[in-house]
Amino acid sequence: MPIDATRPYDDSNIFARILRGELPCKKVFEDDHVLAFHDINPAAPTHILVIPKGAYVSWDDFSGRAPDAEIAAFVRAVGRIAREEGLVAPGYRLLANTGGNAGQEVPHLHVHIFGGGPLGPMLS
Ligand code: IMP
Repeated sequence: MPIDATRPYDDSNIFARILRGELPCKKVFEDDHVLAFHDINPAAPTHILVIPKGAYVSWDDFSGRAPDAEIAAFVRAVGRIAREEGLVAPGYRLLANTGGNAGQEVPHLHVHIFGGGPLGPMLS
């Protein structure tokens, strides 16, 4: 069920539980600000989710109120992960579903990294 991106943060969501270590993930990268792990239902040969450790519902919430240092750390981590996964030369795609029309399901900001093969004009 897609979420309302304007709702308050609720720390019972699945990614908050992964951050607290209550649920497992296939970790790709972690630092003070960011955790990245493989999507449980990959839509491309490489499908990684990058999440901030801070409590942000959506891209709107994050871009609107996160401190600049957290935003910089997040953006740099996304680029670094793609680089370290070898996705830059063949090409990759970023996606941040935000709210109902985009079909955002998990109410903790996540950026999808898709790569590892031809992606076509759009992923649905
Ligand atoms: P959204 O539609 O942009 O909110 O994407 C949510 C993504 O989270 C989907 O691609 C799901 O496959 C993925 N997902 C949901 N639960 C888990 C999990 O426990 N581990 C890893 N990925 C998950």
